[in-house]
Amino acid sequence: MNPPAVRNTLDLIGNTPLVLLKGPSEAAGCEIWGKCEFANPGASVKDRAALWIVRDAEARGTLLPGGTIVEGTAGNTGIGLALVANALGYKTIIVMPETQSREKMDTLRALGAELVLVPAAPFSNPGHFVHTSRRLAEETEGAVWANQFDNIANRKAHIESTAPEIWAQMDGRIDGFTCAAGTGGTIAGVGLGLKAFDENIAIALTDPYGAALYNYYAHGELKAEGNSVAEGIGQSRITANLDGAPIDTQFRISDEEGLEWVRRLLAEEGLCLGLSSGINVAGAIALGRQLGQGARIATILCDTGFRYLSSLYNAEWLRAKGLPVFPWLA
Ligand code: PMP
Repeated sequence: MNPPAVRNTLDLIGNTPLVLLKGPSEAAGCEIWGKCEFANPGASVKDRAALWIVRDAEARGTLLPGGTIVEGTAGNTGIGLALVANALGYKTIIVMPETQSREKMDTLRALGAELVLVPAAPFSNPGHFVHTSRRLAEETEGAVWANQFDNIANRKAHIESTAPEIWAQMDGRIDGFTCAAGTGGTIAGVGLGLKAFDENIAIALTDPYGAALYNYYAHGELKAEGNSVAEGIGQSRITANLDGAPIDTQFRISDEEGLEWVRRLLAEEGLCLGLSSGINVAGAIALGRQLGQGARIATILCDTGFRYLSSLYNAEWLRAKGLPVFPWLA
């Protein structure tokens, strides 16, 4: 079974493989499947949102030939947007907080994006990177603001591509799906897409500590507790993408638990992943245990671990964060 030959590099986005995760399946007593989003050209799930956001702006007539895409993001969305923009002849301006890792800045520069660094600030501060990117888009001629948090072209990517792919890859036999939320595009889009095939599929939010969504879906209150070093996930408000997400149940997963699955998936199954993938897998096990033996669960393996060599895969960094160091790094 070869993947299809495609004539356009943008057609390499999506159609990612789905893999049965052995350790997690054993731990849950049912089948846990991982959607390999690290296999996208930009090595993360955000390539899909980037492509849909750009195509949507073209269709609306707001993004014209030679135009510029502006976004506030620290990582994967910027990388996806830069690649899509290059393929379609657009420029990219990425606004990010100066506290982000050197690796991410280097990657975005390497791809040809123009980087604008701003001091880290709370969302309520007009200098926050998201607000700065909106203003920059307004001030730049021929520019559009990608606005991944509240632009629902983001979740549409998952309604139209990720969900039908998972449904087909699992032969329509799927009992539950879970993942964490950054913008919420993946959980809401896959959730809505799968429910359209079968409304009995359980959709669970897996939240890291430091995010407010677990308490929102469990108790109706946006309240954060604790914290997390996971990048790309952890939301404190109901974004437009999350609005109306069909969440049936919710789990909260610690960094330690997520990291243990990152370690085991690498050491035992040869998958090098980021922390949000480990947290998703831990959530999928929790959902599997709830649904019982014979259940078939899918989750998202969001991005490659190669993006975190100086953090998750670095003994000094892990020690400084008070997290366990992988034995082969100690
Ligand atoms: N994991 C990683 C590593 C990410 O970069 C993101 C995107 N912010 C997510 C998970 C969550 O995806 P979404 O924005 O669709 O909620």
